[in-house]
Amino acid sequence: MGQVIDKTFNGLKVPEGEIIKFQNGRPVTPSKPIIPFIEGDGIGRDIWKASQKVFDAAVKKCYGDKRAISWFEVYAGEKAFNETKDWLPKDTLDALKEFGVGIKGPLTTPVGGGIRSLNVTLRQVFDLYACVRPVRYFQGVPSPVVAPEKLDVVIFRENTEDVYAGIEYPAGSPEAKKLIETIEAVSPDKKIRPDSGIGIKPISKTGSQRLVRRAVQYAIEHNKPSVTLMHKGNIMKFTEGAFRDWGYQIAEEEFAQKTISEEKLWADHDGKTPAGKVLIKDRIADSMFQQILTRPDEYSVIATTNLNGDYLSDACAAQVGGLGIAPGANIGDDCAIFEATHGTAPKYADKDVINPGSVILSGAMMFEYLGWQEVADAIYSAFAKTIQQKKVTYDLERLMSGATKVKTSEFADHIIANMG
Ligand code: NAP
Repeated sequence: MGQVIDKTFNGLKVPEGEIIKFQNGRPVTPSKPIIPFIEGDGIGRDIWKASQKVFDAAVKKCYGDKRAISWFEVYAGEKAFNETKDWLPKDTLDALKEFGVGIKGPLTTPVGGGIRSLNVTLRQVFDLYACVRPVRYFQGVPSPVVAPEKLDVVIFRENTEDVYAGIEYPAGSPEAKKLIETIEAVSPDKKIRPDSGIGIKPISKTGSQRLVRRAVQYAIEHNKPSVTLMHKGNIMKFTEGAFRDWGYQIAEEEFAQKTISEEKLWADHDGKTPAGKVLIKDRIADSMFQQILTRPDEYSVIATTNLNGDYLSDACAAQVGGLGIAPGANIGDDCAIFEATHGTAPKYADKDVINPGSVILSGAMMFEYLGWQEVADAIYSAFAKTIQQKKVTYDLERLMSGATKVKTSEFADHIIANMG
């Protein structure tokens, strides 16, 4: 099992293992894939140690010696800066490119000095256009709503366009003035106050359709009942509205046998989804925020634009008990990076107290993506069992009655013990 790859990145030798290849935007996973990991800053160190232990135990339990992950550390953030004087070394980017699938803890975003967010840089460099956030409830986790178990969604958020494209000019700048002049020349009836800052919201057919395609594929492969296109097309017709139209179009053109639109559902099927079909529907963003609270079980996979997705992911995570256990992934056609959704919480660094759930569940997502579903399932069920046993880290313990507070490392040990 494995082969010798005679290369170093950041001065570290690549461990024995195999490279994951990609076909049609999907990984082809060998039995001993080399997976680069970024430990993360602050609490990242504690969390990574605990998570890796859980991952290795789950793989061992499912496959014995037939399969294993060959973990390869790559540097980013403070650790990279201390080792190489670079926050995101070229070697790290090269390693992620070479090995294709990576997992990371949280990274400090250096404030000032013109340094871009490392997370945003990774997304842009590898064109990780789909931010995927599954949100489901684990029995026993304290939640602010009455029936948190009714929410079980996977949010596909477009990751490269929208107001996040970074095209923004301050009020009074020559660029803002020029854009105001151009807009008023093109549309004389539109008046923009001269002291306005200007931001641009590009939404393309290409960007929208590749995101919706991924969401629909996911729904089909995981037998999910529906994909909801969430947008604000009633106001922003040519950006948000176009996202919806392009979404319906790709479902119709590429997945006609496997999907049905809500319009056809009512016209031809009396509102009942035919067996084996995924329902494609759309909802206006403000209504969506009400519906995930009032009728959460009517939603499953949600595909949406960047800003909507940002808000919705955190709102949904809060509904099932918070960000400490919310996993995430940024996925492109030949690279995917799985990551904690919380930050580095520096005050808890190296204290062995923090909740490693976000990275552990991101790892479960990674195994699912690699096609090692048994490993993902083993992690999910042992994680759920540990929480039901009320053996939890401080953040959950302070909100649960009768819970036992455990350390980060102990939480990992309990999960492993619960794998049976
Ligand atoms: P944060 O690190 O997420 O921490 C804020 C608070 O959230 C913590 O004090 C803690 O609350 C709670 N929390 C976060 N992670 C937790 C976990 N695993 N288990 C339990 N509780 C957890 O947010 P921040 O303080 O705003 O950001 C700190 C740094 O992280 C910044 O440099 C920021 O740029 C960076 N950041 C990185 C990422 C990323 O890499 N993906 C994301 C966000 C922020 P209590 O104190 O109440 O227990």
